[in-house]
Amino acid sequence: MSIDLQIARAATLKPIAEIAAGLCIGADDLEPYGRHIAKLSRDCVDGLAARPEGRLILVTAINPTAAGEGKTTTTIGLGDALNRIGRRTVVALREPSLGPVFGRKGGATGGGYAQVVPMERINLHFTGDFHAISAAHNLLSAMIDNQLYWGAGAGLDPRRISWRRVVDMNDRALRKVAVGLGDGKNGPARESGFDITVASEVMAILCLADGPADLVERLSRIVVGRNAAGQPVTAGDIEAAGAMAALLSEAILPNLVQTIGGTPALVHGGPFANIAHGCNSVIATRAALRLGEFCVTEAGFGADLGAEKFLNIKCRSAGLAPSAAVVVATVRALKLQGGVAKDALGPENVAAVEAGFANLARHIENLRGFGLPVLVAINGFTGDTAAEQATIVRLCAERGVEAHVCTHWADGGAGAEGLARAVAQAADAHSDPLGALTPTYPLDMPLAEKIRTIARTIYRAADVAFSGPAARDLARFEAEGAGGLPVCMARTPYSFSADETVFGAPSEFILPVEEVRLSAGAGFVVALCGSVNTMPGLPRVPAANHIALDAKGQISGLS
Ligand code: ADP
Ligand code: MG
Repeated sequence: MSIDLQIARAATLKPIAEIAAGLCIGADDLEPYGRHIAKLSRDCVDGLAARPEGRLILVTAINPTAAGEGKTTTTIGLGDALNRIGRRTVVALREPSLGPVFGRKGGATGGGYAQVVPMERINLHFTGDFHAISAAHNLLSAMIDNQLYWGAGAGLDPRRISWRRVVDMNDRALRKVAVGLGDGKNGPARESGFDITVASEVMAILCLADGPADLVERLSRIVVGRNAAGQPVTAGDIEAAGAMAALLSEAILPNLVQTIGGTPALVHGGPFANIAHGCNSVIATRAALRLGEFCVTEAGFGADLGAEKFLNIKCRSAGLAPSAAVVVATVRALKLQGGVAKDALGPENVAAVEAGFANLARHIENLRGFGLPVLVAINGFTGDTAAEQATIVRLCAERGVEAHVCTHWADGGAGAEGLARAVAQAADAHSDPLGALTPTYPLDMPLAEKIRTIARTIYRAADVAFSGPAARDLARFEAEGAGGLPVCMARTPYSFSADETVFGAPSEFILPVEEVRLSAGAGFVVALCGSVNTMPGLPRVPAANHIALDAKGQISGLS
């Protein structure tokens, strides 16, 4: 059995009502899903608005290896540690997607002694939010094809439909499909395809909506295609938004669980960090802020993508601002950034750590540029050497940044208390986070300039090169009134550039912008730099091969 599952299963869980009681949430305000999972009720979420807000702590990372550097694990460990030092903290995380669970990366419930539990249920069906999102997305797809069949309604041009279908699975065979085949009774035949559910705009909308009314408005703004005159046709025009929102009425409520250390955790929403903004829901983040003195939350991928979008998209739209940012760094990822081949990261290599530090240094500089106090968490692995870890601490100190070696994966919250004290101190001293937050670009800047500004300021590109279609579509979005939206960059997480094999701190490169897409409901324009896959495939030997159910009904092989 995997070590993570073994540790998770050995944990003693408190009844969820007890966790809620610790947050002054009564049993009437919970919608329990079994003994250890509950949704906060609508009344509870609404009632929290009267409570004062705590401070937001963002956990982000350097450019990762394919295995992930431990942002989720560190978010949980830091939450546990803050509670251990007497600062009431709630963590806010994304829900896992079945794609990575059965594919390559595994689940998204943290690791070692820094996990949210019950691990199997959170990683598999949980409270059904993703199923509801898939259903809402596919309802719109069905209503689009139904309009084509009857030749009624919004005048959609069948050749210009951009809305596809979704399933929460890595399934490359569905990337391109033909629908409506057969005789005329099946509707006009046309090409379409599937994306993974976490890439759905409905997922991004659920995560950015601030309540049911905003949810309906955002859903109705989704552009599904164009009419014969080239004008956008929306989900509102298809009259689908009400029924989609009805399917999401429970999914929009945050899910309460606990960490192994007993810290309350809101695990809610999970948009892709490439095609979408990659962080948990605004509703859950706000709730967590009102339930704790601190809310610790994670933004997907490295800070160049995840934190940039967290700050420029989510925080700006929701009026949130972190009081500190924690950058997770690992010895192995710094070695990779320092030029070591990915199958040779094991042996001690202080010189490579020093070389790779350029990557961490740039993320620190970027986050400071947002006006945030920055700390570094060195997520300790058993193979790290003291010399390698000390090198990171020293290089950080030279830049005036506190770096803490953390062992929460092995030791739970006790292993991150030093980090927790430093984070609490930095956050306490940062008295006006909203006033200090400096976005990378103003919203009234033209879309192309926004993309260029992110590329130059955050990635240190010399310039961007727009493809013909990208330039044309940006001009069209401006003309159609979408010019004031923020930009959602879609790019490889492994490099500052669009080339995933370029490590360290590259500069003077040209960032290609291949394609742009309007996510009018989510409220951003997606800029695709290089090829971005919205339907991943399974590896040759997927994690699913090793997941099983025994005769006693116990799951094994989840990691
Ligand atoms: P991220 O959120 O950055 O993608 P995760 O926190 O999900 O990363 O961690 C990725 C994987 O690495 C998980 O399987 C986790 O158990 C493992 N992991 C994280 N930290 C450690 C550590 N310090 N030692 C060993 N394994 C770790
Ligand atoms: Mg994560």
